[in-house]
Amino acid sequence: MPLAPNGLKEEPIGASSDSVELSTWTESEVMRVPPYYSNVPNDPEVHHVFSDCLVGQRIPFPRRRSGTNGHPLCDECAAMPFL
Ligand SMILES: [Zn+2]
Repeated sequence: MPLAPNGLKEEPIGASSDSVELSTWTESEVMRVPPYYSNVPNDPEVHHVFSDCLVGQRIPFPRRRSGTNGHPLCDECAAMPFL
Protein backbone atom coordinates (compact mmCIF):
# COMPACT_ATOMS: atom_id res chain seq x y z
CA MET A 1 0.00 0.00 0.00
CA PRO A 2 1.92 3.11 -1.15
CA LEU A 3 1.27 6.12 1.02
CA ALA A 4 0.82 9.44 -0.78
CA PRO A 5 1.59 12.30 1.68
CA ASN A 6 1.92 14.71 -1.22
CA GLY A 7 -1.71 14.20 -2.01
CA LEU A 8 -2.86 15.64 1.31
CA LYS A 9 -4.63 18.95 1.13
CA GLU A 10 -2.61 21.63 2.88
CA GLU A 11 -5.42 24.14 3.16
CA PRO A 12 -8.44 22.76 4.98
CA ILE A 13 -11.20 25.20 4.09
CA GLY A 14 -13.20 24.78 7.27
CA ALA A 15 -10.25 25.35 9.58
CA SER A 16 -8.88 28.42 7.81
CA SER A 17 -12.06 30.47 7.72
CA ASP A 18 -11.79 31.55 11.35
CA SER A 19 -8.17 32.65 11.14
CA VAL A 20 -8.88 34.69 8.02
CA GLU A 21 -11.62 36.57 9.78
CA LEU A 22 -9.38 37.36 12.74
CA SER A 23 -6.51 38.56 10.54
CA THR A 24 -8.72 41.13 8.85
CA TRP A 25 -9.81 42.58 12.20
CA THR A 26 -6.84 43.78 14.24
CA GLU A 27 -7.23 43.96 18.00
CA SER A 28 -6.35 47.63 18.02
CA GLU A 29 -9.51 48.46 16.11
CA VAL A 30 -12.38 49.95 18.02
CA MET A 31 -14.90 47.56 19.49
CA ARG A 32 -18.59 48.23 19.27
CA VAL A 33 -20.39 47.58 22.54
CA PRO A 34 -23.95 47.90 23.82
CA PRO A 35 -24.92 51.54 24.43
CA TYR A 36 -23.72 53.05 27.68
CA TYR A 37 -23.66 56.48 29.26
CA SER A 38 -22.29 58.33 32.26
CA ASN A 39 -24.43 59.29 35.21
CA VAL A 40 -21.86 61.80 36.45
CA PRO A 41 -23.80 65.09 36.71
CA ASN A 42 -21.15 67.24 35.01
CA ASP A 43 -20.55 64.87 32.11
CA PRO A 44 -22.07 65.66 28.72
CA GLU A 45 -25.47 64.08 28.24
CA VAL A 46 -24.55 61.66 25.50
CA HIS A 47 -24.34 57.92 25.13
CA HIS A 48 -21.56 55.82 23.63
CA VAL A 49 -21.47 52.69 21.53
CA PHE A 50 -17.70 52.13 21.23
CA SER A 51 -15.42 50.83 23.97
CA ASP A 52 -12.54 52.80 22.49
CA CYS A 53 -14.33 56.17 22.63
CA LEU A 54 -12.07 58.70 24.33
CA VAL A 55 -15.01 60.33 26.07
CA GLY A 56 -16.56 57.04 27.11
CA GLN A 57 -13.27 55.69 28.44
CA ARG A 58 -13.12 58.54 30.94
CA ILE A 59 -16.30 57.41 32.62
CA PRO A 60 -15.45 55.58 35.84
CA PHE A 61 -16.85 52.06 35.76
CA PRO A 62 -19.13 52.57 38.80
CA ARG A 63 -20.62 55.54 36.94
CA ARG A 64 -21.38 53.69 33.74
CA ARG A 65 -24.93 52.79 32.97
CA SER A 66 -26.09 50.61 30.12
CA GLY A 67 -28.52 52.09 27.63
CA THR A 68 -28.87 55.53 26.10
CA ASN A 69 -30.97 57.27 28.77
CA GLY A 70 -32.50 59.17 25.86
CA HIS A 71 -29.22 60.95 25.19
CA PRO A 72 -27.94 61.50 21.64
CA LEU A 73 -24.91 59.64 20.38
CA CYS A 74 -21.64 61.28 21.41
CA ASP A 75 -19.62 63.11 18.77
CA GLU A 76 -16.61 60.84 19.14
CA CYS A 77 -18.68 57.70 18.60
CA ALA A 78 -20.55 59.32 15.73
CA ALA A 79 -17.23 60.02 14.02
CA MET A 80 -16.19 56.37 14.16
CA PRO A 81 -16.05 54.90 10.67
CA PHE A 82 -17.48 51.58 11.82
CA LEU A 83 -20.89 52.79 12.93
ZN1 LIG B 1 -18.52 58.18 22.67
